[in-house]
Amino acid sequence: MESSRSLEHVLSMQGGDDAVSYVKNCYGPAAALALSKPMLTSAIHSIQLTKGCSYSHLKIADLGCAIGDNTFSTIDTVVEVLRRKLAVDEDRETETEFEVFFSDLPSNDFNTLFMSLDEKINGSSRKYFAAGAPGSFYKRLFPKGELHVVVTMSALQWLSQIPEKVMEKGSKSWNKGRVWTEGADKEVVEAYAEQSDKDLAEFLKCRKEEIVVGGVLFMLMGGRPSGSVSQIGDSNSILKHPFTTLMDQAWQDLVDEGLIEEEKRDGFNIPVYLRSSEEIAAAIDRCGGFKIEKMENFKIADHMNGKQEELMKDPDSYGRSRANYVQAGLKPIVQAYLGPDLTLKLFERYAIRAAADKDILNQDAFYHMIAVSAIRV
Ligand code: SAH
Repeated sequence: MESSRSLEHVLSMQGGDDAVSYVKNCYGPAAALALSKPMLTSAIHSIQLTKGCSYSHLKIADLGCAIGDNTFSTIDTVVEVLRRKLAVDEDRETETEFEVFFSDLPSNDFNTLFMSLDEKINGSSRKYFAAGAPGSFYKRLFPKGELHVVVTMSALQWLSQIPEKVMEKGSKSWNKGRVWTEGADKEVVEAYAEQSDKDLAEFLKCRKEEIVVGGVLFMLMGGRPSGSVSQIGDSNSILKHPFTTLMDQAWQDLVDEGLIEEEKRDGFNIPVYLRSSEEIAAAIDRCGGFKIEKMENFKIADHMNGKQEELMKDPDSYGRSRANYVQAGLKPIVQAYLGPDLTLKLFERYAIRAAADKDILNQDAFYHMIAVSAIRV
């Protein structure tokens, strides 16, 4: 995963529909989607369609769409709100048709997505035409001035690449002893923050070209609390986050068992950065061309909150479900780095560590998401 090109070709959520698939483990983004739905609804309402135009054809894109119920539920909301708004706004003879672009990296399981599409579209009264748009949202995906609504849900926390400085062996920003930024040296966190700024600037620059004036950009992404140096926030949530304690322990197990060299572990980094609302607002401001309508922080409860006691009656299956959850997001990139055998071993260790996790009965864990709605001006 040395370059953005290689990350672009391996990053995806786990496809299919087995126990480790994204489809079966998308609790976090599902909760974020549910909480932000009222904001998404009012964002779509704020679209400024020029009076007098017929709007016989509106184009919507979902960037980082992945697969599963969240994907369809997002688009259903957008199409339904637009349909209602248009019905009220104008007395038109032709009914508006909607074209929806499902966009994600090429390694996304588009087959699974499109297999369930027919049933989703025909089974509902909210019909739209669907197309796939493979590619990175850090690059141009559509012709200029083409799109009326762009949404991106729980996706922009994924960076385009591991910051180059973090890949420099022996440097201060070489992430020794861990695979993510939480608790890492400040040079590592700074390198991630720089990459995140660069990426968000690219994302906005591309969308500025693609969205028509008056169109809506809605972004929901993993974020961190205002003023927090930690990517997560409170200490209990730091402990429980899927990328922290258990993850580091599982990699350390592979090192201790002599299955990988320390350097191999140190060379793996999770390409996720959780921005603050200040960082997001500054990027939008620097880019220009967008007016922020609203920005909101959401606190998402870990899906196992409140169930710990129950779950710990069967620690092995609890451990497995924790490991399945983290694999849904990370297995493809871990496997590209370690190969299938070591990947299996890593997540077995993760499950064992989770099953033995004595901190699990502590108080609940929460993660932060930030939503922004903006109008292209
Ligand atoms: N929107 C979905 C999926 C969230 S998972 C939901 O709400 O459930 C995040 C998705 O972002 C993954 O499918 C991942 O492949 C995609 N993604 C990450 N980086 C991307 C990039 N640079 N370009 C396009 N998609 C990306």
